[in-house]
Amino acid sequence: MICYNCRNKFYIKRNFLSLFETKQYYICDACKKNYPIELSFEDIPLESFGLRIVSIWKFLYRLNLDAYSSEISRIVEKILNLHPNFFFIYFDSFRLTDFTLEIVSFLADTEGKNILLICGELKK
Ligand SMILES: [Zn+2]
Repeated sequence: MICYNCRNKFYIKRNFLSLFETKQYYICDACKKNYPIELSFEDIPLESFGLRIVSIWKFLYRLNLDAYSSEISRIVEKILNLHPNFFFIYFDSFRLTDFTLEIVSFLADTEGKNILLICGELKK
C-alpha cells in the first residue's frame, strides 16, 4: 500500500486470521510515530450554553489528513456517541478567538444546544 502522507510504499504484516482481510490502510507506521494522535478536551462556557472542543493533534503538522481518515472517523463516531444531544461541528483547523467564540455562541443560541467542536488542530 502507499502512504497518503509520505507517498512511500509500506506493507502490512498478516497472520493466519487476517490473511484474506481486505481492509485498507492509508498511513504507514513511520508517519503514525512521527505524527501521533493526542486528543485534548477543552470546555468553554458560552452565554447560555457550552462549547466542548476536542482537538486531535496538539501541534500543527504538515500532513495530509486523508491519511488519518479512518482514525478520525472512528474518533468522531465515539465522541458523538458520548455527546448525543450536542450540535456537532468539524474543522481541520480551528482558531479560537473572541470573534469565533461569538459566532459559536450565536450558533448555540439559534440551535438551542451545546456545541461539540472537533478539530484537527486548535490554534489559540
Ligand atoms: Zn508515511
